[in-house]
Amino acid sequence: MPNVDLHCHSNVSDGALPPAVVAARAKANGVDVWALTDHDELDGIPEARAAAQALGMHYVTGVEISVTWGGKTVHIVGLRIDESNDNLVRGLAHTRSGRERRAHDIAAQLAAAGIPGAFEGALKFVGNPDLISRTHFARYIVERGVCPDIGSVFRNYLSEGKPGYVPHRWASLKDAVGWIRGAGGIAVVAHPGRYEFSDIAQDALFAEFKQLGGVGVEVVTGSHTVDEYARFADVAKKLGLLASRGSDFHAPGESHADLGTLPPLPASLTPVWHDWQI
Ligand code: AMP
Ligand code: MN
Ligand code: MN
Ligand code: MN
Repeated sequence: MPNVDLHCHSNVSDGALPPAVVAARAKANGVDVWALTDHDELDGIPEARAAAQALGMHYVTGVEISVTWGGKTVHIVGLRIDESNDNLVRGLAHTRSGRERRAHDIAAQLAAAGIPGAFEGALKFVGNPDLISRTHFARYIVERGVCPDIGSVFRNYLSEGKPGYVPHRWASLKDAVGWIRGAGGIAVVAHPGRYEFSDIAQDALFAEFKQLGGVGVEVVTGSHTVDEYARFADVAKKLGLLASRGSDFHAPGESHADLGTLPPLPASLTPVWHDWQI
């Protein structure tokens, strides 16, 4: 079975490494089929594709779109998209457009909680001024010594109910799936184990996603526990969804999983790549 990693980030969104360096790391870890899936942004794709092809990996064009559904943030991965598709490019530009305003609001809340200078501090970690993310604030909070690591930042700050959390309206599920499909791609629900939905709400999310033409779900991801691999393998089978695998790698020493190192998908599932020529 090929080593497939269809979810990770570069410094074009909230990863720490440039796209070509992420590609080299994937190759060094034995990845055969690779997608860069930056948040709401396509600008890393040309560099990622050129590097992957030079290294002899099969490159898959990808993106991870931020969506607001049921009052929470849900991420939808798009794979095999045409990154020059106008509607997709415009939709993502609109999705990114509120981030700077939000970042100022996050910084103001952090200042009130005793962490000054967070806007400028986060900006030092930003590779793309269009894409200021909570991850960049988390790196600044660690750098200041307020928290020992990124995970503890998100347990104490930046998350719902904690200082530095600013509610934000992202794309609709309908738009995100529509942009991906309109660009010739397939839509995959990213790390469903991360959303704190009731069973009823989760069922409704998948029902709406399927009805909109979504086809896949991440089962083996760095954002899931081993128990969640089994739980979402069952969901994939029950709902007839294709299964995906991806590390969700962001940075060395920071991410739970490195590129290409997670277990394979359970053999009973149909992978999203089952009909790709790879
Ligand atoms: P944003 O799109 O600015 O809301 O930032 C979301 C990003 O924050 C995600 O893509 C993750 O990289 C990161 N993140 C969110 N929650 C956590 C967490 N509990 N631990 C580590 N990183 C997190
Ligand atoms: Mn991220
Ligand atoms: Mn995500
Ligand atoms: Mn991700």
